[in-house]
Amino acid sequence: MASAQRDYYDILAVPRTATGDEIKKAYRRLARQYHPDLHSGPKKAQMEQKFKELNEAHEVLGDPETRKKYDRYGHRWQEGEAYERARQQAGSGAGADMGPEFAFGGEQDFGDIFETIFGRGSRTGSGSAFRGFTTPGEDLETGVELTLREVLTGVSRRIRLAEKVPCQACGGTGDQRGRPCTTCGGTGGQTEHRTIEVKIPAGVQDGTRVRVAGKGATGRNGGKRGDLYLRVHIKPDRVFRREGADLHVTLPVWSWEAALGAEVLAPTLADPVRVKVPPGSRADSKLRLKGKGLPTAAGGRGDLFYTLQIVMPTSLTDEDRKLYEQLGRARHPDPRADLLLQAGHS
Ligand SMILES: [Zn+2]
Repeated sequence: MASAQRDYYDILAVPRTATGDEIKKAYRRLARQYHPDLHSGPKKAQMEQKFKELNEAHEVLGDPETRKKYDRYGHRWQEGEAYERARQQAGSGAGADMGPEFAFGGEQDFGDIFETIFGRGSRTGSGSAFRGFTTPGEDLETGVELTLREVLTGVSRRIRLAEKVPCQACGGTGDQRGRPCTTCGGTGGQTEHRTIEVKIPAGVQDGTRVRVAGKGATGRNGGKRGDLYLRVHIKPDRVFRREGADLHVTLPVWSWEAALGAEVLAPTLADPVRVKVPPGSRADSKLRLKGKGLPTAAGGRGDLFYTLQIVMPTSLTDEDRKLYEQLGRARHPDPRADLLLQAGHS
């Protein structure tokens, strides 16, 4: 059944507003993922099916001409095309000077052809732009980029959406009294832009889709609006490295701060905090600030880790030099003793 068929845009996981290039890229990415040669066992058959579906979707959406037809007629675009041809033939029979009367009569005939092709039982057909069908609107999908701070606090975003809607002048038929509609050039559709404000809650996870109910494409003939999905991408941060809900920061400390211990000012996603560097800290050791990471899906908070980086002054003052020389003269075990031993140099 045509109505059970998955939407080609869903198969390619692209929004209906995707460019030809985005479609091509999505196809290549998924083709690599689904390719049956890469799978075995029970998964192979499943992937074969997906691969077939993917190719079919790409064949139609990859070609701007067939894509236009698909956008207009849905999965029955080929039948829609037959209807179009029949309509054009009916029109050409009257010649160029088709009078308004004939045009009007013609329009009625087209209605008949339309009914014949689509049948009365196909009202559930998805994606059809024809009048008379109550069809829920498509779901729309778009990406949003968030900073770590926006993930922490939640944020309000204005999002501009482009939506294919039926042409108002011709009701989506592309036809005005037997001639191509002048408003939409006979395509039956027009692009409508709208800007909506969306509240993104705190704690969204990278790579997830946030559903905004009822903000998708307009339904046809009283059908309800689809949903809008926001694909969340968390922007990399210059200071905080994200690992799940945990954050990692490299924290430079002077060698004497590491040796003697110190209280230093360290960054967090909110205000900076004073953290205690314990005496005798080694390079690469970690300090943990519990609950100062990102919100988790479960409602908690991740941790913030500081990895100590022991740094030296770029140039030594005379006093520095004296103190280091003093250190050098004191007796210490050889820090390379273990290394030499492990290398067999006993
Ligand atoms: Zn139109």
